[in-house]
Amino acid sequence: MIENHLPTAELQALDAAHHMHPFTDGDALNKKGARIITRAKGVWLTDSEGNEILDGMAGLWCMNIGYGREELAEVAARQMRQLPFYNTFFQTSHIPAIALAKKLAELAPGNLNHVFFNGSGSDSNDTNIRMVRHYWNVKEQPERTVIISRWNGYHGSTIGAASLGGMKGMHKQGGLPIPDIVHIDQPDWWSEGGDMTPEEFGLARAQELEAKILEVGPEKVAAFIGEPIQGAGGVIVAPETYWPEIQRIVKKYGILLIADEVICGFGRTGNWFGCQTLGIEPDIMTVAKGLTSGYIPMGASIVSDEVAKVINAGDEFAHGYTYSGHPVAAAVALENLRILEEDGVIDRVRSEIAPYLKAKWESLSDHPMVGEAKIVGMMGSIALTPNKAKRAAFAAKSGTIGLITRERCFANNLVMRHVGDRMIISPPLTITKAEIDELMVRARKSLDEAYEKIKAEGLW
Ligand code: PMP
Repeated sequence: MIENHLPTAELQALDAAHHMHPFTDGDALNKKGARIITRAKGVWLTDSEGNEILDGMAGLWCMNIGYGREELAEVAARQMRQLPFYNTFFQTSHIPAIALAKKLAELAPGNLNHVFFNGSGSDSNDTNIRMVRHYWNVKEQPERTVIISRWNGYHGSTIGAASLGGMKGMHKQGGLPIPDIVHIDQPDWWSEGGDMTPEEFGLARAQELEAKILEVGPEKVAAFIGEPIQGAGGVIVAPETYWPEIQRIVKKYGILLIADEVICGFGRTGNWFGCQTLGIEPDIMTVAKGLTSGYIPMGASIVSDEVAKVINAGDEFAHGYTYSGHPVAAAVALENLRILEEDGVIDRVRSEIAPYLKAKWESLSDHPMVGEAKIVGMMGSIALTPNKAKRAAFAAKSGTIGLITRERCFANNLVMRHVGDRMIISPPLTITKAEIDELMVRARKSLDEAYEKIKAEGLW
């Protein structure tokens, strides 16, 4: 542990002087000073001022088993002592990578039985881009290079993964997307559904995939990628008609389906994987975050028998990372999966804690500022609106009201994030009912305060 004897202001000054933060306006943060987190236990964070903060986001959607599990620390220390590193290049392997690959093959649905290890969600999606293009090459259809993805999807921050993602602000910085990645619209009925019913809209948005395949030329399309539930895009839950239609279309044209399970995987939706909750049958799953509950970085691409057979039959797949299958990360992942399984964490989410949270979360829709309240398993969102019947957006620039609400949450020691004018939660799966009650008290208080502020500032 790194001891701290410095006061907060001094830490903030050092942070401002030397530390560049991800997804941050540096000058603005440096002026204000970052909140400095010093320790955590369960769902609770402690900052350098001694505040106890309820983490409604499980870190960055990753702390599935909660903070402070000694078992993971012990396993990491033991593995570091025995074999802190060896690579899996050059015809070598090691026990943690073998054991974790076997375990993931057991847990993953259907014929997803083969694992390529990566260091994060982003580089797992980079692996996927290279792997699906190589797959079609080996199958002697090298013209199949195009990957179809969705606007407002999020697949990571590397050049490849950010290209797959549909975040226009990210594309603007650095000339993205890379060639042969194209996007279709997202299934966000609340904001974009117009006069259609959710069911009609779900079908229409899925059928954009077929239109895009025909526009590009079916012989050029390699794969479609989507998050079962869009996370960073605002916890957008597609209407029920959406995924079955996507599944029909990818089958019809014989293209690969990649489910990006970086958030949805490892219990977040009440099953091991989001595709099981939503009835999706992917050829490849991207996983990270909950794989290790965020205790150590690791990602993976879990692929079907067919994909592995083709890749293995081809020439050397010229791709890999120094830390692919890192033994310490693999040992920590295995221990995390053991806890998820043996403590019955996912079963408890499905049968008890997610239904409890759902009832509370949906009750927020009686708040004057809350339109739809959506939740699947342990990921939820509310759309803020000045007019529920019209599903109207605020007159202020998108994100203004969300940011005001987020600031109130911050002041009330609740981590709840905003995406535009949607508020989102994704707490540790181990949260108790009493902690959910506390989360709801703080969320409602924050909404009330934001509502008063917005009215006072003439933004209503
Ligand atoms: N895919 C999805 C669905 C994600 O939510 C994220 C991260 N939020 C990523 C990929 C990228 O993962 P990482 O930040 O570990 O690179």
